[in-house]
Amino acid sequence: MSALDTHPGEGRQAAALAEIREIVGPKGWLDDPEARAPHLTDWRKLYTGRAAAVVRPASTEEVAAVVRRCAEARIPIVPQGGNTGLVGGAAPHEAGTEIVLLTDRLSRIREVDPVGNTVTVEAGVVLQDIQQAAAEADRLFPLALGAQGSCHIGGNLATNAGGLNVLRYGNARDLVLGLEVVLPDGRVWDGLSGLRKDNTGYDLKHLFVGSEGTLGIVTAAVLKLFPQPRQVMTAMLAVADPAAAVSLLHKAQEASGGQLVAFELVPKFAIDLAVAHVEGVENPVGGDTGWYVLLEFATPSTESAFIDALEQFVEKTFEEELVVDGTIAANEAQRAGLWRLREAIIEAQDRAGAQLKHDVSVAVAKVPDFIAEATAVAEAEEPGVRVVAFGHVGDGNVHLNLVQPEGADGAAFMARSDALSQAVYDVVVAMGGSISAEHGIGRLKKADLAARKSPVALDLMRKIKRALDPDGLMNPGKLLE
Ligand code: FAD
Ligand code: ZN
Repeated sequence: MSALDTHPGEGRQAAALAEIREIVGPKGWLDDPEARAPHLTDWRKLYTGRAAAVVRPASTEEVAAVVRRCAEARIPIVPQGGNTGLVGGAAPHEAGTEIVLLTDRLSRIREVDPVGNTVTVEAGVVLQDIQQAAAEADRLFPLALGAQGSCHIGGNLATNAGGLNVLRYGNARDLVLGLEVVLPDGRVWDGLSGLRKDNTGYDLKHLFVGSEGTLGIVTAAVLKLFPQPRQVMTAMLAVADPAAAVSLLHKAQEASGGQLVAFELVPKFAIDLAVAHVEGVENPVGGDTGWYVLLEFATPSTESAFIDALEQFVEKTFEEELVVDGTIAANEAQRAGLWRLREAIIEAQDRAGAQLKHDVSVAVAKVPDFIAEATAVAEAEEPGVRVVAFGHVGDGNVHLNLVQPEGADGAAFMARSDALSQAVYDVVVAMGGSISAEHGIGRLKKADLAARKSPVALDLMRKIKRALDPDGLMNPGKLLE
């Protein structure tokens, strides 16, 4: 029986909740149903649950005291950061037996160290605020994603977030040097040394990165900083097809000496949707080709030769007819406009009707075949379906969204979603890919994980879960079944 199904004696639970209320104080206890409501549902509104309490501890010590009390009274806990996750991981279940533990008051940037190139932050710091603090110290914190104005670093680490700059700087896992974690029994693991070299056995921090709140609560982290870019070049280039895009990727890496930070593939159909549905968005590139690449180079060097070489590179891709049209941002406003267009395609798809999202990855070289095959199976399964395959192609990560056929009944389309998703996942798995590249598993994909991950890997994951959280109190019913 999981912790979710248990009904702790009402008296015992009530006593524990009263003590927890004392621990977090009035500012740390959400009573008002209106204030609680946004924390009981996920960003996509796929799941809406209930909670025994919604608490906001203000320090690691308070988190530890709350968790200890919950462990004693067998109360399950759902950690929640910015609640921007896309797989329902931070929403409580319908039973109402869990407490939701918000990290928003763990909001201190403890230290910026420009010599060691590190920043030490608490779990509830908003990603954008870390980027800003790094910039103020003339450094770069490179994790960047659409939700950066709301997501918390604790959530980024718990989901091993990816985003736009993974190509050059890696994902959240690659950016972390140390963690502080409150374990399911309430003990605190202080792994904040921030050492760049430390081979003293198992690297525990990596157990918690990507664990989606199922092994403990991240309360603080030491993160890597990098030199600030001094020169940036952003371009949107039209290409014939995804194969041309992958060829362009390779050439762009070579021409820039590895200083390519972002490489996003977007089908023209998605750009057209964005221009049609989202105000203030324009497509500065003509061309009748079906695909665009948004790419960005950045270097800490101030040598003008860098930009000259890139301009020559772009010219050459035109001469070779690899690129058929395009624009290079001439100033910051134009650069922002290109990124706005990239963000707008997500908003636009929502307005085009019901859609089924997939966040998958395959080897970069296989991206063109994957897009072709997945499109073919989706169209065979659902004639008229509109396929929007876009995303971080430089990392082999495709967001394959299936938008309902024009004029069709959205609810009927979604009722067939499982057959469509399984057809797409069959293609992914046959190509040796992953059914979740960056958004994680949460509640949404746990059945798919159980069906698709190797039995050996699943066995190891379950053993780790049982070793750290034997009573199953940490975000039960998420990630693992
Ligand atoms: P939440 O949604 O609050 O939580 C996510 C999971 O982590 C839950 O399982 C929760 O229980 C757990 N958790 C949260 N905090 C902690 C903690 N302190 N300790 C332990 N567990 C914790 N994701 C990408 O990877 N790349 C993208 O490019 C990207 N773009 C996005 C764009 C938009 C517009 C939106 C809405 C989302 C996007 N996401 C993206 C998804 C989402 O932003 C990330 O998953 C993000 O890392 C979640 O952070 P959060 O603070 O909102 O976490
Ligand atoms: Zn993404």
